Amino acid sequence: MCGFIGVIGADDAVREIYDGLVAIQHRGQDAAGIITYDNGRFHVKKGEGLVRDIFTVANVERLKGNLGLGHVRYPTVGSGGGEDAQPFTVNFPFGIAMAHNGNVANYEDLRGDLEHESLRVLYSGCDVEVILNVFAGALARSANGTFTPSAYHAAVKEVYRTVRGAYSVVGFVAGHGLFAFRDPYGIKPIAVGRRATPDGYAYAVASESVVLSTTDYELIPGCAPGEALFIDLDGTVSRAQVAEPHHHPCVFEFVYFARPDSYLEGISVYEARIRMGERLAKVFQAEGHTADVVVPIPDSARTAALAMAQALGIPYHEGLVKNRYVGRTFIMPSDGERKRSLRHKLNAIEEEFRGKDVLLVDDSIVRGHTSKQIVQLVRHAGARRVLFASMSPPLVHPCVYGIDMSTRREFIARDRTHAEVAKEIGADAVIYQTLPDLVGAVTEKNPEIRKMCTACFSGDYPTGDITSSMLLQIEHERIAQEH
Ligand code: SF4
Repeated sequence: MCGFIGVIGADDAVREIYDGLVAIQHRGQDAAGIITYDNGRFHVKKGEGLVRDIFTVANVERLKGNLGLGHVRYPTVGSGGGEDAQPFTVNFPFGIAMAHNGNVANYEDLRGDLEHESLRVLYSGCDVEVILNVFAGALARSANGTFTPSAYHAAVKEVYRTVRGAYSVVGFVAGHGLFAFRDPYGIKPIAVGRRATPDGYAYAVASESVVLSTTDYELIPGCAPGEALFIDLDGTVSRAQVAEPHHHPCVFEFVYFARPDSYLEGISVYEARIRMGERLAKVFQAEGHTADVVVPIPDSARTAALAMAQALGIPYHEGLVKNRYVGRTFIMPSDGERKRSLRHKLNAIEEEFRGKDVLLVDDSIVRGHTSKQIVQLVRHAGARRVLFASMSPPLVHPCVYGIDMSTRREFIARDRTHAEVAKEIGADAVIYQTLPDLVGAVTEKNPEIRKMCTACFSGDYPTGDITSSMLLQIEHERIAQEH
């Protein structure tokens, strides 16, 4: 899962892009890049690491123009080296820059077609380069020498026809304008905003609304699934529904990935997490558990834990303190790095645990290594009993749409009962959210969302084209990346 921002019409677009990337740094800490366009030239800076470490005053100064893109990367397909940092460019037709959030399910097939049939050479192992080349080839044909929004719409239609998986894309056509499109399943979000300027409107598109609010853009309707959005240099917006939508937004964005101050699909992530906590409290009660204190595992579980504590009438205490300068364990590329970083990441305040029955609340349980270490930490701090609640149901299937959670054999809940999971992580009990409750907590305030992607819990992949050989291939790539 990555994050992006695209800007058109703002003086010195790079400043807003930089601020936007800092606002979505949580979506990927592996690499980042910014590209702008001005006076017939691309200006690019990319690198590995955090936004604040890659960009300096000197290299931001040279990224001139009022049109540009930025990206923070969380590795999916590809080696994850510097050559895979986004955005990417092609010089034909017109000059195109592109970045994305998601994962191309038929990457290997498309890469083979591009290399052997279209005789193209790709620079990287990053799947957006495949989308970019498919798009560029289609745009060359549909534009036939003259760029028009309808030629752009036709090119996006060709991408939808060819590229499988989940992808939200932002890009620009040099000298013409900014674009964004989102696969027909709308698994990954795209928020759109605008701001009045002395010369008309400036526009921005981003993976999360928080980027727009922190850079002073007013939210307008986002990019719909199957829609192709284009904003030209004069600020004229053209939207076309070029593929039939089958909307299935990712439910896990609401659980873990998005910032709580973001709105996705018109739903407040913060409020959805409150409802998750309230619903989880009912499961806790129905299973007959009791506890003296509710403690969140920071940060993403805080909101739900507080709501759960209030619903149960149990004190809420922040007994675990996080060192905010250590990266998120879940998006550390290798398991070794995850284990090492956890030891430096959380510390327990012993008084909050000593002699108590503790209810820990986390967003999910993936491999269980982190959960086990936290349970040990809390027992070491003197807890009498440790109950472990998960805001989401058991994770048992790999995500093929861009969240590198695990391979099937690594999911702790796969082929284990709740009691067996509890035993594995050393807890007295685990309490899982049910899938209907999770989906209900998200969709309750937006009945227009009739379906969500829940594949990592249910195995029901909404795109319908995920074969067992694709799952195996993705699994092999992830295992290879771990070593
Ligand atoms: S499989 Fe899970 S994490 Fe992946 S897109 Fe679907 S709900 Fe989100």
